Amino acid sequence: MTVTTSPFDADKLNEECAVFGIYGSSEAAVLTALGLHALQHRGQEATGMVSFDGVHFRAGRGLGHVSENFSAGSEKLKKLVGHSAIGHNRYSTTGESETRNIQPFLAELAFGQFALAHNGNLTNAERLHRSLVETGSLFQSTTDTESIIHLVARSHQNEPTERIKEALMQIEGAYALVCLIDDKMIGMRDALGIRPLVLGKLDDAYVLASETCAFDIIGAEYIRDIEAGEMVIIDKDGVQSHKIGKAKQSRFCVFEYIYFARPDSNLEGRSVYKARKEIGAVLAKESPVAADIVIPVPDSGVPAALGYAEAAHIPFDLGIIRNHYVGRTFIQPTQADRSSGVMMKHNANADLVKDKDIILVDDSIVRGTTSRKIVKMMRDAGAKSVHMRIASPPTTNPCFYGVDTPEKEKLMAARMTVDEIAKEIGADSLAFISLDGLYQAMGESARNNDSPQFCDACFTGEYPIEKIGSSAYERSDDGIA
Ligand code: AMP
Repeated sequence: MTVTTSPFDADKLNEECAVFGIYGSSEAAVLTALGLHALQHRGQEATGMVSFDGVHFRAGRGLGHVSENFSAGSEKLKKLVGHSAIGHNRYSTTGESETRNIQPFLAELAFGQFALAHNGNLTNAERLHRSLVETGSLFQSTTDTESIIHLVARSHQNEPTERIKEALMQIEGAYALVCLIDDKMIGMRDALGIRPLVLGKLDDAYVLASETCAFDIIGAEYIRDIEAGEMVIIDKDGVQSHKIGKAKQSRFCVFEYIYFARPDSNLEGRSVYKARKEIGAVLAKESPVAADIVIPVPDSGVPAALGYAEAAHIPFDLGIIRNHYVGRTFIQPTQADRSSGVMMKHNANADLVKDKDIILVDDSIVRGTTSRKIVKMMRDAGAKSVHMRIASPPTTNPCFYGVDTPEKEKLMAARMTVDEIAKEIGADSLAFISLDGLYQAMGESARNNDSPQFCDACFTGEYPIEKIGSSAYERSDDGIA
């Protein structure tokens, strides 16, 4: 979901979200709250839920974490009666914390009510928005997601599911969608399957979620990933699969494996944890350095640091301790807040670090805020030398498909060479995993340059979704029209 400050201002993107849905359980709302709680890492700004009891749809929403809004026994949760429910966690770095933008959206259409939750970004959002407004649509939010509702409302198809399909044919970009209509729950993934969506089962109920960790918390069994370009319609007769448009080779977001997803999730047949460890192992082979200890930047660098340490036969140790009561660094809206966020979040384990040659492993360098602070922290704690190893290639391009990244000028690796970055962050040496190394760690023999196996636009600038009409691309400065 993209939020814009005004309908035509697409400059305030920065979203990563979670979706969840359950059909056929007497405890639908409670299980949705638990599922959303497991997916809290994907969005901490706001959360919402819509339930359906066969007659009425009911909605509950609020700013803040799931536990603050849907705690056990709370009135808000009790109100959400029904055998099905969908939910959403929102992540935004914009000032648009308005409740009207909190999903799932619930609208009254000609065929009945329609509830919708979205993870991703629509790249033709601005064009769609403009044409819908010019032809009479009244928008109630400033998100791209609402366009989908208007497109469904305007469709001339009779069947609600056909209306949704028709709407999907008109949107471009990345999406994992979960919706409730009548007595059906529907899950959909964009043609390239950029954002994740998995299907599970709990007794007689079906579950949809952004990640499998949401199944574990409720004891649901994983069935499969929803395929790229697939729509699954779930009702009392079970699951029906439909194709939306022509089949394409999927391009799952590789950054989900690097950073975004929880390490205890399995996505597209891979364990996120194992993928991260393997990235660390490949990084150790590509960029070895003599040192006394390998230290992860917690928590995101931990699996890759373990993989690095094992492959390099260097002891792994916790030289940085993280305070768990501070949100992700990026959650702060301004650069000044972000910088102090790093200090609030990490502290050196000085006794361990003193007089040692250390290798620091983190998943990525975006603006460089974290690396700068952490390297200094290690030096202040008495480290003899600090070698930084990064478990992703240099992030040189913004994401327009649902991951929060700043514009290109703010990406450190877009402005500087690796040596310049090393100097700037104060490291004795710095290395990123290579693009091919990343693909090897993902179990591929190499990147297929004619038809890459993943979306890796943040590292390569090769954007797999058509750019025309995309406001997101228009804001970029790298020659994208
Ligand atoms: P920075 O401090 O700006 O270089 O950001 C890098 C740190 O932010 C890394 O330690 C990552 O764990 C984390 N990170 C990377 N990408 C994202 C993202 N899209 N949203 C939130 N945090 C991120």
